Order: sequence, then C-alpha cells, then structure tokens
Amino acid sequence: MSVIIFADQAQGKIKKVAFEAVQYGAKVAQQLGTSATALVLGQVDNAELEALGNYGAAKVLHVADARLNEVESTVFTKIVAAAAEQEAAQVIVFPHNFDGKAIAPRVAARLKAGFVSGAISLPDTANGFVVKKSVFSGKAFANINITSEKKVIAVMPNTFPVEKTDAKATVTAFSPAISDADFKVKVSKVETVTGEVPLTEAEIVVSGGRGLKGPENWGLVEDLAKALGAATACSRPVADTGWRPHHEHVGQTGLTVRPNLYVAIGISGAIQHLAGVNGSKVIVVINKDPEAPFFKAADYGIVGDAFEVVPKLTAAIKQLK
Ligand code: FAD
Repeated sequence: MSVIIFADQAQGKIKKVAFEAVQYGAKVAQQLGTSATALVLGQVDNAELEALGNYGAAKVLHVADARLNEVESTVFTKIVAAAAEQEAAQVIVFPHNFDGKAIAPRVAARLKAGFVSGAISLPDTANGFVVKKSVFSGKAFANINITSEKKVIAVMPNTFPVEKTDAKATVTAFSPAISDADFKVKVSKVETVTGEVPLTEAEIVVSGGRGLKGPENWGLVEDLAKALGAATACSRPVADTGWRPHHEHVGQTGLTVRPNLYVAIGISGAIQHLAGVNGSKVIVVINKDPEAPFFKAADYGIVGDAFEVVPKLTAAIKQLK
C-alpha cells in the first residue's frame, strides 16, 4: 500500500500546486501508516526532484522522457495508472489545477477508484475515508466518503499551506511502456506567459471589472498588482469584450482562485463572479456604489471612485516598502 502524488511541472520546474499536493499526500500517507511517492513526468533536474523530499515525499518516480515535457492527458493517464499499479497505491493525489482536472478523473475511471475533485480537507479516516469539498459555487460543503479500495483526490490549490523541511527524496527512474502511438494529441505550439505570477497559484490577486471603463485604464490594476507582487484577474465581461485575455477571467465560467488576498476593483460581485473567488482568505472590495453586492462578501470595503482610491492605495503600499 502507498500514496502516489502527481507532481506537475512546467519548463522543468515543479509547480507550487504540486508542492501542496505532495505535502497533502505525505499527510495522507502518514494517516495510513505508509509512505508518499511523487511522480514527475518530463525533464526535470535531479536537485529539483530530490527537493520534493522537503514536502514529505520519501521517493520520486521520474520519467525523464522529453515527449512528456508538455502534458498530454491520454498518455499521462496511462503512466499515472501504471505507476499506481507498480507501487500498489491506495490513494492517488493530484493538484486540482488545469492538468489535474484533465488527468485525475481519467485515472479514477481507469483504476475504478472513487474520486473527489477540489478537496479542501484531509481525509477523516476515523469515519471511513471522508473528504470535504465545496459545492454549489461555494455555498455549501459536501463530505464525501470514498468507499472504493482505490481513491483519487484532487487537492484545491492555495488551501493547504506548505511547510518545508531539509529532507531529500530518493529519485528512481520509472520506464513505463509508452510509444509514439500513445500520444493522441500533438502539441505544435506552446505559448508561455512570462514575468507574471500564475493566477491560480498567486497568494495575492488584483482583479478589475467593468467599473474600470476600458482597457486603457488597466494600468491602475497592474500598478497595484506590481506593488503587491500580485497576479491580475478580471470579471467575465471584461474578458468577453477583449479588454483582457480570457485566461484572466475568474468566476463560475472562468478560473477559481483562492488567494490569501483578493482585491476587486469596479466589480459588482455577481453570484457567478463570487463563485470563483469566495474561497479567498481576505477579500477587499473597491466600488463607488455602496449597495454593490460584493460588499456583502468583503472583509474590507472601500466605497469610492477607483480612479481616485487605487492610485492612492498603490502609492501608500509602495511607501510601506
Ligand atoms: P458590472 O456588473 O457592470 O459592475 C461594474 C461595477 O463597477 C459596478 O458595481 C459599479 O458600481 C462599479 N463601478 C463603476 N464605476 C466605478 C468607479 N469609477 N469606481 C469604482 N467602482 C465603479 N461573471 C464573472 O465575472 N465571472 C464568471 O465566471 C461569470 N460567469 C457567468 C456565467 C453565466 C451563466 C452568466 C449568466 C453570467 C456570468 N457572469 C460571470 C457575468 C456576471 O453575471 C456579471 O454580469 C459580471 O460578473 C459583471 O461584471 P462586472 O462586475 O465587471 O460589471
């Protein structure tokens, strides 16, 4: 019996969400009296792999195959399932990010395992194997008892703070039987966003809505984000009208974020927007309408014109630094 964690990487660097998943998996392994094995696919330096021990992985299985540098769900599913079989894994843990969402349900189906996506608690093993997740756009919680022998859990990003130790993991090469024919999708072009904090992993997010009037005013959001070391996001109409790219749109039909701090500027706080941000630990709302629904979800609210308030806030934060 063991616990396997899919440790997601991009451009040879293990992602922060993977550290969170590894630590989660290590805690589950501890609960079950077994050890945690991280699985890394694609070319990654040995030092980076060993460092997964800092987050509780005793062992790292590494498939150093350049064809796996980009995620291809079908072949990744095959490899994770093969690793789970080799390690007699009872629990397989994923980050609930873009890649995890694509691969985890496929692995669960392949292994006939019960599956919880977006887990926000460690399993309660005193009462079966009960994992908590939020449902109905964050309006309720579901406690799901996974009764199948094998279990797949995708862990909600930014939910479990990571603590590092100096421990190093043992790295072992893993050579699953894969051929070119297993790759059903060929990646022909990769565009990477550089110089920005990835939105779903960001500790701070500054987000703008239609209250900003137009893309020419986005400097307001970007300056505040820069001062705070934050990622930028937006409401759906802002992305729909092309003021901002769609990968910044948060909400029911966009990304879900759970930063420590979410600053909403000129966003009304419609239920569909809140669905993607109400897991944030602290919400600050800046809106000129005191009746804006977002204030009900806010920890701190500033009633005022964004064009006056935000530059002052940015200047004050810069001064603090
Ligand atoms: P508005 O509703 O126009 O609000 C603008 C706000 O800015 C107002 O509160 C106003 O008081 C304030 N404001 C104006 N001027 C200033 C100023 N100078 N200073 C400060 N404040 C100012 N929306 C999402 O965001 N994400 C989703 O994923 C999403 N999914 C949807 C799915 C469905 C099926 C549907 C039907 C809708 C969805 N929507 C989603 C749209 C959602 O219902 C709202 O229409 C949208 O969130 C509103 O965007 P907004 O707050 O930017 O704009």
